[in-house]
Amino acid sequence: MKIAVLSRNPKLYSTRRLVEACEQRGHQVRVLDVLRCYMNITSHRPSIHYKGEVLEGFDAVIPRIGASVTFYGTAVLRQFEMMGVYPLNESVAITRARDKLRALQLLAREGIGLPVTGFAHKPDDVEDLIKEVGGAPAVIKLLEGTQGIGVVLAETQKAAESVIEAFMGLKANILVQEFIAEAGGADIRCFVIGEKVVAAMKRQGKEGEFRSNLHRGGEASIIRITPEERSTAVRAAKVMGLDVCGVDILRSNHGPVVMEVNSSPGLEGIETATGKDVAGMIVRYAEKRATETEGRRHRAPTRGRG
Ligand code: ADP
Repeated sequence: MKIAVLSRNPKLYSTRRLVEACEQRGHQVRVLDVLRCYMNITSHRPSIHYKGEVLEGFDAVIPRIGASVTFYGTAVLRQFEMMGVYPLNESVAITRARDKLRALQLLAREGIGLPVTGFAHKPDDVEDLIKEVGGAPAVIKLLEGTQGIGVVLAETQKAAESVIEAFMGLKANILVQEFIAEAGGADIRCFVIGEKVVAAMKRQGKEGEFRSNLHRGGEASIIRITPEERSTAVRAAKVMGLDVCGVDILRSNHGPVVMEVNSSPGLEGIETATGKDVAGMIVRYAEKRATETEGRRHRAPTRGRG
């Protein structure tokens, strides 16, 4: 097969591993910088241009679209879809997952366990908003934050009010969440491909840190997940309509709760922690799906809901 990997940086671990896995399985693979793709969207024959060349003959496209280029990146991916190329994660599913509020609303509607969460932009009654999620301690998040930046634990009602007011001053969208203290500063990353959790790792925040992000000094280790956690992760992926994703779960007293569904999950942490060839599994899945959907891709309905 001819496979395109949409990635801004061919040197990234995840990109390198995907390229390696494609080559190992005898595919022709090209890494394309999504921001350098340009296209004519009014043509009857949709095409994509890259550095003066028309891209042709691709069977599958593996998007690795960073959060900061979601808008343009998903537009390029959509163009591939219109050309009949099989996308490993559809553009609409990526858009759905990247919008944290939309994602949480969809997960809630399907009855998937979530931390009690409120969201706001400029609440007049901050006290009531905090009460809504069960009072302090509460976690307050900037909607646009990544890698744990803009995620604050407010231990008291007063602290929660001040943080919310400070964020409001920034005119940011915020999320106020029940603090899952019993998670003990750890979360579980379930790596889902198709309808299976193929690998799972526990990330433990460093001493005194409630955020488990590896970027913040958290450590990853292999973990056995429960059947309930497994089914929660698979259902969450399905609601988002994502073929490949990382579902982040906290172990709460009321069962597994989903924090986030990541449409471009990194491979380094999970492959290192579990010793599994996740890149190889991704490519094998893409082969299977690209073959199954061949010829009827234009008509394939959008997966996921809402
Ligand atoms: P980001 O997307 O920036 O990583 P997250 O929402 O995933 O932000 O939060 C970062 C980390 O903080 C999580 O991995 C988790 O360990 C911890 N955390 C987030 N929300 C909660 C919560 N409601 N209760 C307990 N811990 C939380």
